[in-house]
Parts: sequence; C-alpha cells; structure tokens
Amino acid sequence: MAAAPPAKVAVVGAGLAGAACSSQLAVQGTSVSLFDMGGRGPGGRTSTRRQSGYQFDHGCQYIQPAQDNRLQDLFKHWQDQGALAEWKGSFGIVDQSNRKYRKEEERALLVGKPSMDSLVQHLAAQQGIQQHWAFKVQRLEQLKDGQWLVHGLQRHPGDDPDDPRTEGPFNAVLLADILTCQGGVGSVDLGLDAAEKLLHPVGKASNKAPCFSLMAALHVGSQEAGIAAASVTGCDSLQWIACDTSKPGRERSDGAHCWVAVSTEAFARETLSAANGKPDMDAVSQQLLEKLCEALKTINPDLTAAQLEANFKATQRWGSGFKAECHPKPYIWDADLGIGATGDFCIASSALQAITNGVVLADAVSGKPSQVGSTAAAAQHSSKPADVLRW
Ligand SMILES: Cc1cc2nc3c(=O)[nH]c(=O)nc-3n(C[C@H](O)[C@H](O)[C@H](O)COP(=O)(O)OP(=O)(O)OC[C@H]3O[C@@H](n4cnc5c(N)ncnc54)[C@H](O)[C@@H]3O)c2cc1C
Repeated sequence: MAAAPPAKVAVVGAGLAGAACSSQLAVQGTSVSLFDMGGRGPGGRTSTRRQSGYQFDHGCQYIQPAQDNRLQDLFKHWQDQGALAEWKGSFGIVDQSNRKYRKEEERALLVGKPSMDSLVQHLAAQQGIQQHWAFKVQRLEQLKDGQWLVHGLQRHPGDDPDDPRTEGPFNAVLLADILTCQGGVGSVDLGLDAAEKLLHPVGKASNKAPCFSLMAALHVGSQEAGIAAASVTGCDSLQWIACDTSKPGRERSDGAHCWVAVSTEAFARETLSAANGKPDMDAVSQQLLEKLCEALKTINPDLTAAQLEANFKATQRWGSGFKAECHPKPYIWDADLGIGATGDFCIASSALQAITNGVVLADAVSGKPSQVGSTAAAAQHSSKPADVLRW
C-alpha cells in the first residue's frame, strides 16, 4: 500500500519554485510552512525594487507562456485572480555590432501584476500556507519518528538581534534554493548523512552565473523608444533592455519611465574580478546607463539627450543570477526520508522551469502521477544563461 502523503510540509525558499510547490500542496490539503530569509518578503529572483518613488523588476523580466495544458490552466487561473498578466508590446533584437534593430512579431509574455513579485506573494497567500519571512533556515533535524524540525534565525529590522527559532515537527522538508542544499558555508546543515548524500551532489553540480541589473528612470517611454523590450547582441556588457513601465499595472502619470538593463555574465565576471569583488557600483551604473542609451539610440536615432537623461539610476548585483549548468531532473524527492529539493538549478534556469519544477515536486510529494510535461516545458529554454533573455 502506498504511504499516505505528508500532512505537514516545510518548504525552504519562497521564489517561484518554492511558492508554486507550496501553493499546489496547499490546494491538495497539505499544511505548508513556507520559509524565506529575504527581509523584504518572498519572491527570490522574481523581485521588485522600490526606491525614490520608482519601481523596477530588477530580477526576472518575464515568464514564458506555458506549452503544457496543466500549466496553461494554472497560468490562466492566476491571470483570472489578477496576479499574472500578459505583457504585450513591441519586442525585438538590437545588434550593437552593426547598429541594427530587428523587430520581432508582436507577442505576449507573462509578468506578475502589478509587480513581478506579486505572483509569488499571491501564491504564498494561499489558504493552508503559513508564512515565515525574514527566517533564515540554518539546520534541519530528523527526529526518531522520522519527522523533521527546522532550526533557524528570525531576523528583525534595524539593529535588533536575530532570534534563534525552531519550527515543526514536519513530515517532510523541501528545499527550494540551490544555496540550501549544496553544503558548506551559508548552506543548510541537513543533519543526516543520507540527506547529504542525496542532495549535496546536486547542489554542487550547478554553476552560478552572475549579472548586474541597471535600474534607470528616463524621460522616454516605450512608445517613443519604439520597444517594450529587446535582447541585445554584439555588446560586451548588455544582454537585455526593457521598459518596465510598459508592463501591465506599472503605468505612471508623472512622465518618468522606468527602464531595466541586464548585463552579460562576462561583463559581471570581469567587473567583479577587476575590483576584487567590490566594484564601485555608481561607476557600474554609469557604464550600463551609457550602453542602455546607445542601444535605445540604435532603435530610435531621433531620441534626444534630454529624453535619455536619468533622474535615477542604481544597479543590483546578482551573485547567482542564473544557473549555468543544471541537474537533469525536475526535482529530487525521497519519500522514505521525507526530503526533497527543486528550483531553477533543475533542468533549466528560467522562471517557467522553476514553476514547472515546483508543481511536479508537489505532485510527487502528494503521491499523484504528474500531468505536467516538465521536459517539454524545459525544451522552451536553453540552459545556457546568455540565452535566457533571448526571444
Ligand atoms: C536579472 C535577472 C533576470 C532574469 N530574467 C529572467 C526572465 O526574463 N525570464 C526567465 O524565465 N528567467 C529569468 N531569470 C531567471 C529567473 O529569475 C529564475 O530562474 C527563477 O526566478 C528562479 O526561481 P527559484 O524559485 O528557483 O529561485 P529563487 O528565486 O532564487 O528563490 C529561492 C529563495 O530561497 C530563499 N532562501 C535561500 N536560502 C534560504 C535559507 N537558508 N532560508 C530561507 N530562505 C532561503 C531565497 O531568499 C530566495 O527567495 C532572471 C534572473 C535574473 C537574476
């Protein structure tokens, strides 16, 4: 007889993978405790920066529409609930090696609404999920009866000291970030040899690809610029530019337009290595802003210096923006130990894959045969980081 599905599950990491997994488990009646160490709440790399009156999706830019029927239904459901929306606009490829712009067919991508982190917030607010934000999980402990305790630090704003906290017991623990299962400094102590043997090799096999995201408020919007977003080629520093304000729910009435430009991995690596890991971020912002303006001038040479003047600029550094190599399966799950893991370090480093992986792990934990073609979804993306932001 098949074992009963776990009644109480801890999910560590509230990015897309952890949130999608938690939400599916909760729908199926499992009680879920969802932990994230982020002080600003959940989201992981689908995050939104709010600063000086501006708002930028400075991590994940868009979610590819799903090909799989079950995921399409889920996306439709999240759209109906208002947490996900189609981003329609003019997309293309700007080639800086010959200063040419090629407009692609009009298409719709998916984005969180009114900000990229809205989708994760929505999923995490599902009934049956207990939220533990600003909680850094440090150690797991398996009890004699096979249940798990989760030990960690509850962080507080300002200078208040962190509180050691223990939650549980849980019938199963799911780790939804590569950081949590790779072992070593900053990882989670899994507290059990068998769990380490299962998860550490997976965590270690995945390489990190850093990148920078420039956030800039300009006086030019997507209409005048002629694009909602574009992949950039032939440029050593940029791979992607996007007018954030052109996404649904981000409209502004003050004439300012928020732009995001994502750097190449090579630019991030060189900049970090030249400055021993501590680059002058103002200088990085200025460099990336110049490249953003050059790309916009390639698309529309009539743009003026006044339109391209930045009222605000800042750069986010992503030490592990993408995963360069991934585990070949969508998740790891050991029902006897009651431990599993998933995230965009499985199959391919993309938002669609992270969601897919979370959903199929929830199916596995519940003992349901999965109806999601996880490899079909993965085929939409190359696992090479530089390709993630290509159409
Ligand atoms: C600049 C940038 C642009 C991108 N653009 C796109 C794009 O346009 N399209 C696309 O498909 N993909 C894009 N990606 C990739 C996409 O964002 C990721 O593939 C996806 O968001 C990964 O989701 P995840 O849930 O696997 O991991 P994450 O989002 O990284 O979530 C993991 C979570 O675990 C938490 N955590 C880690 N350790 C602990 C701990 N010990 N205790 C508690 N919590 C912990 C973290 O705080 C984090 O919130 C982009 C990435 C970057 C950086």
